[in-house]
Amino acid sequence: GSSCSSLGSEELLKDLKKSVSENEELEHRCKVKGVGCNGLCSEAIMVSHYHKVGNRESIYSKIEASSNNDFIETLKSGSPIKDKKCDLSQAFFTRQKKIVLENAGVIDPDDIDDYIAYDGYLALYTALDEMRPEDVLNEIKISGLRGRGGGGYPTGLKWESVSKVNADQKYIVCNGDEGDPGAFMDRAIMEADPHKIIEGMALAGYACGATKGYIYVRAEYPIAVEKLNRAIKQARQKGILGNQIADSGFSFDVEVRLGGGAFVCGEATALVASIEGNRGNPRQKPPHLSDYGLWKSPTVLNNVETLANIAPIIRNGGEWFKNIGTESSPGTKVFALTGHIQNTGLVEVPMGISLRELIYEVGGGLPQGVKLKAIQTGGPSGGCIPEELLDIPVDYESLKSIGSIMGSGGLIVMDESSNMVEVARFFMDFCQSESCGKCVPCRVGTTELTSLLDKFIAKNATQNDYKLLKELCEVVKNTSLCGLGQTAPNPVLSTIKYFEEEYLEGIKDA
Ligand code: SF4
Repeated sequence: GSSCSSLGSEELLKDLKKSVSENEELEHRCKVKGVGCNGLCSEAIMVSHYHKVGNRESIYSKIEASSNNDFIETLKSGSPIKDKKCDLSQAFFTRQKKIVLENAGVIDPDDIDDYIAYDGYLALYTALDEMRPEDVLNEIKISGLRGRGGGGYPTGLKWESVSKVNADQKYIVCNGDEGDPGAFMDRAIMEADPHKIIEGMALAGYACGATKGYIYVRAEYPIAVEKLNRAIKQARQKGILGNQIADSGFSFDVEVRLGGGAFVCGEATALVASIEGNRGNPRQKPPHLSDYGLWKSPTVLNNVETLANIAPIIRNGGEWFKNIGTESSPGTKVFALTGHIQNTGLVEVPMGISLRELIYEVGGGLPQGVKLKAIQTGGPSGGCIPEELLDIPVDYESLKSIGSIMGSGGLIVMDESSNMVEVARFFMDFCQSESCGKCVPCRVGTTELTSLLDKFIAKNATQNDYKLLKELCEVVKNTSLCGLGQTAPNPVLSTIKYFEEEYLEGIKDA
C-alpha cells in the first residue's frame, strides 16, 4: 500500500525475495509475496509471517528498507525477531471485524490466483450457477447494506430501481474518487484487493441487467490505478471479464477512467459527466441516475467500499450480514484514523461500536500526555464531535443526530491545542476552492463564509458578523444545488454548537 511504499517497501520486498532465492534451504520452504495495506500505517513498513496459508504467526513492524538490515539477516538465521514483533493481542487487531478488508494485507493484489485461493470469484460463479438475478438482488436487500460513500442509501433499493428499467444498455459505475482530507479507505481497498471490486461490480451487473462497468479513480492514486488495470487484464485472461462467463449467458466488462482530482467529481451527476468527457459539473436531480445516468442510460453508482461488501454477502448470505452491526446500519465500516492518535491507519469495525472504543481501544488513544478535544467525521461535509459525546454508537442515524455524518470514513482526532474556528475555516476553505462555481449560494457563500471566519480568527469580528455567519450557513445549506454546497457549512455549524466560546472570543464588541 501507499504508506509502506512511500518508505521503500518495494525495495524491501525485492531484497527479501533475493535473500530467499539465494538460500537453498529457505527457497524450498518459504514464499515471499507483496500484499496490500495491513492497516497499521503508523508501524510501516510491516512484514507478516505465516507458518502456512491463512495462519498468521506474527507481524513485524517498522522494518527499514535496506538490503543490509538486521531483519533479513535474522530471518535467514531462523531466530525470532522479538523487538520488531507486533502484539497481535492488542485491541487494534482483536476488536476489528474484517469483511471489506478480509484480504487486505493477506493476498497479493497482483495475482488473480491468490484472490481465487481465498474464495475470490466464488460468489460470482455461485450466483451464475445457482441464482437468478432477482435472487442476487434479494440477498442484497435482505442484508440491509447501505451505501458507504456517505449517504447511506439502501444498496438493494438502488439496484432494484435500475433492474426494473427496460433498456438495451445499463451501467455499473464504481466511485473511487475519494477526496475528503484525511480519508484513504477506498485507496487502500483498491490497492489491496482490486478483484473484490470487480467481482462486486459483476454481481451488480448480473442483478441489474448491466453488461458494462466503469471504475472512476482519481489520477492521484497511481498504485490503485495500476492494481485495478492489472486485475482487469487478468480477469479478462481468465474469461471472467469481456466474454460470456462459463456458458452462463452473462458477460460483463470493466474499464478504469481517471479523474483529474476535483472533489466535486465525487458527486454522482458530476462523476458521470466526467466519465463522458464533459466538465465535472453537478446537475439538477431528477432525473436520477437510475433512469438517466451514464450516456443517458440507467446507471448504478456505488462507492468502492459498498462494492467490496457484495461478494462476501453473496458468499455468506444476506442474513449473515444483517446480523453484524446494528439493526438500522448492518455490517461494518472502514475508517481512516488520522490526527492525534496512536494507531494511525485503516480499521474496519462493526457498526454500533462507540466512538470512544474506536478511538481509545482500536486506535490506541492519543499520544501520552495529550487530551482529546474533538473528532471530525465525514470530512468537509461532516461535523466536529466533542469528547463528552464519544459514547455515541457509530451508525448513520446516531452521528446525524449530533450534527455530524458518517461520511465515507475519514476520522480526524484533534487534541486540546486545536482551535476549532481554524478547523472550521480549513474545511470551508477546502469547499470554497473545490466549489465548481455553478450555483451562487455555494460559489459566493463559501467565499463569504471563509472571509467571515477569518475575522473571528483575527479577533475583530462583530456581533453582526456572528449573526451573519449563522444565517449564511443556513442559506448555503438550504439553497445550494449539490451535496458539496449543502454540507459545506456543517463544520461551522457543529463547532458553533459545541465550541461556541471560541467564536465569542473572536468578537471584539462581545
Ligand atoms: Fe457546484 Fe457548489 Fe453548486 Fe455543487 S453546490 S453545483 S459544487 S457551486
